[in-house]
Amino acid sequence: MNDGNDDVFRDRLGAFREAEERFFSGGSTPKEYNSVAGGFGSYSQRGGERGMIRLRLCGGRLDKDKLDFIVAAATRHSVDRIHTTTCECIQLHNLVGDQIMDIMEGALDHGINTQGAGGDHPRNVSATSLSGVEPGEFFDVYPYAKEAEGYLLRRMLETRLPRKLKVTFSSSTSNETHATFRDLGFVARPDGLFDVWSAGGLGNNPRMGCLVSEAVDPGDTLYHVAAMVDVFTEHGDYDDRTRARTRYIKDAMGEGAYRDAYLDKLGARMASGGMGIRPDPIPVPVKEPVRVTGDRIHPQRQEGLYYVTYRPVGGDVELRMLSTIADTIRDMEGVELRVSPDSAIHVVNLSGPEALRVSEVTAGGASNRFESSVSCIGGSICSLGVRDSNGLLRRMISAVREAGIGDDSLPRFRISGCPSSCGAHQVGVVGLQGGSATVDGVPVPAYRVFVNGCGLQGRERFGDLVGTVPEGRVPEMVVAIGRAVDSSGMGFDGWLVSREGILADVVSAFTV
Ligand code: SF4
Repeated sequence: MNDGNDDVFRDRLGAFREAEERFFSGGSTPKEYNSVAGGFGSYSQRGGERGMIRLRLCGGRLDKDKLDFIVAAATRHSVDRIHTTTCECIQLHNLVGDQIMDIMEGALDHGINTQGAGGDHPRNVSATSLSGVEPGEFFDVYPYAKEAEGYLLRRMLETRLPRKLKVTFSSSTSNETHATFRDLGFVARPDGLFDVWSAGGLGNNPRMGCLVSEAVDPGDTLYHVAAMVDVFTEHGDYDDRTRARTRYIKDAMGEGAYRDAYLDKLGARMASGGMGIRPDPIPVPVKEPVRVTGDRIHPQRQEGLYYVTYRPVGGDVELRMLSTIADTIRDMEGVELRVSPDSAIHVVNLSGPEALRVSEVTAGGASNRFESSVSCIGGSICSLGVRDSNGLLRRMISAVREAGIGDDSLPRFRISGCPSSCGAHQVGVVGLQGGSATVDGVPVPAYRVFVNGCGLQGRERFGDLVGTVPEGRVPEMVVAIGRAVDSSGMGFDGWLVSREGILADVVSAFTV
C-alpha cells in the first residue's frame, strides 16, 4: 500500500545516491556514510568496503509480490547473504557501488520502504508473526501495526527523534515481539482491547517496560503512538546518545512520573482528536479442508488452513530457498510469508495439499530447537560487533552434532555479538553476549553467559550473569550442557527444573 510516504521517500533518494557514490568511490568514511545512509536503511559493513540494506517488513509480513522482488533483486546482484532480523526485517548484505540504490528504489515499487530502518528513527513496527492465523491468539493486531507504521513514517519527516524508537504489537501471551519491554508495546487482551507498555528495552542497561495504559480501544492506537513520540521528543536526551532511549527517561523520572508524562501527552492528543482508526481486517482465503500432518506443518485458527515453518540456521536464508518458496507458492491463493523475530519463516494460508508441498520444498534448515537458536548477524559483518556471534552458532551446532547430543537436550540459545543485544540474549534460557576476557594476563575473545531469561508475557525475566567464557570454549560448554541432560534421562526442560542452579553449575566450570 502506498499511502504517500513512498512518494515522499522517493523524492529524498537523491541524498542517498550522493552518499553512496561518495562512499563507494572512496570519498567518505564509513562513519560519514552511515550518518546519512542509516536514515535510508543502509549501513556500511565491517572493513568499510561493502554495505547492506535493511528492508522494512511491517509485522514481518512478506506477500508474494514483495518476495518476488527480493528474489529478483538478490539474483540480479548476486547477493550471497540474506539475513532475517529480530525486528522482522530482511537484510541483504555484501553490496557495493550502486547496488544498494538500485534495490532501495526498486523496493518502493513493491511497497517496501526502507526509510528510517536505521539511524535515529522509528524502526520497523513489529507484530506477532502469526497474527491473524495463530490458534489461541486474542485478535489480529496486524492491521493496527500497519497503521502505526504509516503514522511513524509520516511523522519522521517532520520530527527529529533523540534516537531510535521501537514500537511493537503482540497478539498472544507468547510475547514473541517482546511488547512488554520495548519503547512502546501494544499487548492484546482476551476482551479485544490492548494494554500498553512503555519505556522498556534491551541493549546496555536493559529494562522491563511499565504499564502505562489498560483496556485501550485498538481504534485509539495512533493516539498512543503520537503520545509516545511526544514524550520522547520532549524528555529524551539529545546530547548523550548513550542515554537517549525511552528507558532512560523512565529511570530519570521514576515510573510514576513517567506514566504521568505519558498520560499527559495522550490526553492532549485525544483532546485534539482526528486520529481514531478502524482498519479493515486482513483477508484470509477459504480453502477446502483436507487434514494433513507433518513435523513443520501446523493448523491455523481457520479451519482447513495450515502454516509451514522453515527455520534457517542463524537467520541466514539462502537465496535458492527463497526462490524455491516463491516458485512453489506462486499459484497458491492468499499464501504469504511471515518473518518472525526468532528467525523463522512461516508460510501461511495453505490448504492441506499445499502445506505438504511447501513442507517438502523447505526441507533442511534447523532440525531441532537448539539448531533454531537466535543469533544476530555478528561482528564479521556488523561494524559495531565485537564477536562473530553467527559464526559461533555454527561452531556450536557442529560440535553438538559431532558429540551426538540428543535433539531434546538443549534449549534455544540467544546470541548477540555485542552489548547492543540484537540477539536478545537477555531473555534466552541461555544468552551469550560477545565481549572479552583476560586469561593469564592476556585479553581473549569471550562471551558473557546469562541463564534463565524468559520473554513470555507474565513471566518476563532478564537472565542472570553466570560469568565469562572464552570464545574457544563455548562449543565445549554447550556440549557439556547437552551431555549432562542426556545422562539425566530427562529432556532439557525437565532437567532445568530438577534442581535450582543446575544450569549455572555446568556453565561455571568454563568461566574465567
Ligand atoms: S548485537 Fe552487536 S554485533 Fe550483533 S547486530 Fe547488533 S550491533 Fe551488530
